[in-house]
Amino acid sequence: MDRSPSARGPLIDTFGRIADDLRVSVTDRCNFRCTYCMPAEGLSWLPKEELLTFEELSRLLGLFVRRGVGSIKVTGGEPTVRTDLPVLVRMFREVGPELDISMTTNGVLLDRLAGKLADAGLDRVTVSVDSLLRHRFEEMTRRDALDRVLAGIRAAEAAGLVPIKINCVVIGGQNEGEVVDFARWARETGYEVRFIEYMPLDADRAWERAKVVPGATIVEAIDRVFPLLPEREDAEPATTFRFADGAPGAVGVIASVTEPFCDTCNRLRLTAEGQLRACLFALEETDLRGPMRSGAGDDELGALIRETVWRKWSGHRINHPDFVQPQRSMSMIGG
Ligand code: SAM
Repeated sequence: MDRSPSARGPLIDTFGRIADDLRVSVTDRCNFRCTYCMPAEGLSWLPKEELLTFEELSRLLGLFVRRGVGSIKVTGGEPTVRTDLPVLVRMFREVGPELDISMTTNGVLLDRLAGKLADAGLDRVTVSVDSLLRHRFEEMTRRDALDRVLAGIRAAEAAGLVPIKINCVVIGGQNEGEVVDFARWARETGYEVRFIEYMPLDADRAWERAKVVPGATIVEAIDRVFPLLPEREDAEPATTFRFADGAPGAVGVIASVTEPFCDTCNRLRLTAEGQLRACLFALEETDLRGPMRSGAGDDELGALIRETVWRKWSGHRINHPDFVQPQRSMSMIGG
């Protein structure tokens, strides 16, 4: 077998998977402290000079786009806390006029930013909402901000950042009893609610398998109340279902723990300080910032990107006894 990646064509690994979807973290900072992601306090932020500048981010994005990346998700930390985010989104849009540009956000600043982001060229948003009950939302995010997040979602919809997707991390003993309420909300609003299995990526290292609610259990619970029809499969890791009675909206599950989708994974991640990761659970990263700041040309950086994809492992090892949780938690990787 060929032991090196070809210098041209799409970004491909040794298992034949093509990486054409990039998550770009624009900051490690966050204005929430979700229990399953960050510690209540004590996480130190990257100094400003370690963050990629807008120019560096745009340059790297150009390298990915020229190598076949067709969709990006702006993420963090919380992307909306990066100063002048709409300016960056406009620069991304100039790099990739045809690029699918979406953003994952906690939504709390969307009431002010949605219009500006849409004008700058953002296509749509995914908003994280873990509970529709004020007290539980506060328990899980450590912020009493449900109303403001809901207002942010409405602002995003009004600005045309649609279809609206909602991410809900389901944790046993916390919000698992709300999945049918979320499905009802999807039907009322037309949103697509995606239930995410709890993954071992929390800074507090409190993850336990017993707290993972399997995607199949979630689908069964909803299907008993609102019968579901599976949607055709696409490249998305979410398995999506429509409502059999034709109601608007949809539900989906991202079953990374119980039904890993590594075989079809097309994702790459760039951290806020310019480390490229071929898997959410990767234990190795490729530094793109260092070479870029030392004067590396586009071909050299392109080769580093290609080699990182080429070395992508076959899949994460959450379900193996030798699983090692990455040093970085989700907010520092860019979810
Ligand atoms: N701050 C933004 C947000 O709230 O969407 C973007 C970054 S956040 C890290 C991205 C997504 O990762 C969120 O939907 C969050 O709920 C999810 N997430 C964080 N930690 C997780 C974990 N341990 N297991 C599963 N999902 C997690």
